[in-house]
Amino acid sequence: MNLRGTLLDVGEVRAVSTQYGERDLVEMTIRPDEDGVAAGDDAVTVTLWGKWTHTADHAAAGMDLLVTAVEENEFRGERGYATSGDSYVVLEPDFLVDVTDVRSWVQCPRMYYLNKLSGVPLAYPVVKGTIVHEVFGDLLRGRDLDEAVADHVEAAGLELGLLGREAQEVRDEVRRNAAAIEGWLAQGTLTEEDDWRSEYTLISPTFGIKGRADALRRGMPVELKTGKNTNREPRFQDKIQAASYALLLGESGDPPDTGTLLYTKNAALDRNEETGDLSPAKEFSVGRGLLEFVVRTRNEIAAMEAERDVPTGYEADAKCEYCFEQDTCMVVSGRLDQESKAGQVGTAIPEDERDYFEAFYRAIEDERRAVHDEYRKLWEQSAEERADADRALIDLAPPSAAGSCRAATGNSARASPTVRCRNSARATLRWRVRATPSTATPNSAASSRFPRRWSSTRTNPSTCAASTCTPPNSPSPGS
Ligand code: SF4
Repeated sequence: MNLRGTLLDVGEVRAVSTQYGERDLVEMTIRPDEDGVAAGDDAVTVTLWGKWTHTADHAAAGMDLLVTAVEENEFRGERGYATSGDSYVVLEPDFLVDVTDVRSWVQCPRMYYLNKLSGVPLAYPVVKGTIVHEVFGDLLRGRDLDEAVADHVEAAGLELGLLGREAQEVRDEVRRNAAAIEGWLAQGTLTEEDDWRSEYTLISPTFGIKGRADALRRGMPVELKTGKNTNREPRFQDKIQAASYALLLGESGDPPDTGTLLYTKNAALDRNEETGDLSPAKEFSVGRGLLEFVVRTRNEIAAMEAERDVPTGYEADAKCEYCFEQDTCMVVSGRLDQESKAGQVGTAIPEDERDYFEAFYRAIEDERRAVHDEYRKLWEQSAEERADADRALIDLAPPSAAGSCRAATGNSARASPTVRCRNSARATLRWRVRATPSTATPNSAASSRFPRRWSSTRTNPSTCAASTCTPPNSPSPGS
């Protein structure tokens, strides 16, 4: 039983004695939604226990609150609700936080903000990482390693040329990274019964999180990292990323209990020079505590966005001297006159220019929320409603039913020849390529990469209801 509504009042956290010892609690007053638990009540109290009291540090009146698996109780004749051992508390569930943002936030909340301001830099580790990820996907689909490496290095030719890299040098390096994956895939623990899926897109209406897992093996998330890690344990932020996917996978059943990180550079290290655990694959247990931590972290982001706050870096324990974003962080703080744990450098830009920046920043955030509204239609509308709104194709037939696919756009005159094709898989793919996301411009670097991106992420039947597809104009999961 889930309870959802608008927060009217956030109480004070206090400790009480219980039969299990002293525990913290906080009482929240909400106005329940009209179509859920306690509908019709003007206000009800929900008691959050234990670590869920953390919500009180970030919640404010007016925010949307969801408590799953609530228990109903009665105190002095008044009905109330409380978290149970199975509950999750979600602030602003309609705000979709990306898994990679949860990862950035645990590194430092200000890093999450800086990532929003700057695009992905044209840097060799980034380009190489993209190539290795694409080769990884190809290997899972059974493609030949050399062929996959050659194709993806060629496809990234423009970026590599701008970076002054030689194709052969890159092919060798990618092959060394990818060979580690290939070797790991071939290990005895992975038999022919292994069940693999690559690039698995997940969106959770309950937790307000979305993301794309690099791969799933027997239903467990596997994340690929092209750096090295010679510790026995995966890095904490990497664990959080994989645990986030486990949480999303668990929304429709039991969450996976194991996550795997593959550090591909480990296999390319010289064993005479490096010490530590050089094995690329590192597994870890995904327990309930880790899953709750993911949700609490996600709540911090959603609350910060609802309040339109700018993180300073003081919210976390990250050490600025070890941070690779330190220079950017200080310059942004100095130019925009923001408080930052790293300090400021430079002179602030004039006030009217800062106002202009703020207005633009707010407009972009408003647009992001509008995009989230579109995402929500995936589960709030039926396939037919989405098709009527020109947001989906339905009734596509498999290739054997040649010529029978049709576009259910609600207006048959608008069904293009591409859609009226003989091969439904091709119809889906071509339709998606035509639906250029609004963030791409014809001459942007992003648009030049679209065909490759789309072709590697085309609709996966297991993540898309059998008769529906992602709506046009939906941005990539990273948006
Ligand atoms: S420099 Fe410090 S405050 Fe800035 S992002 Fe890095 S850790 Fe956070």
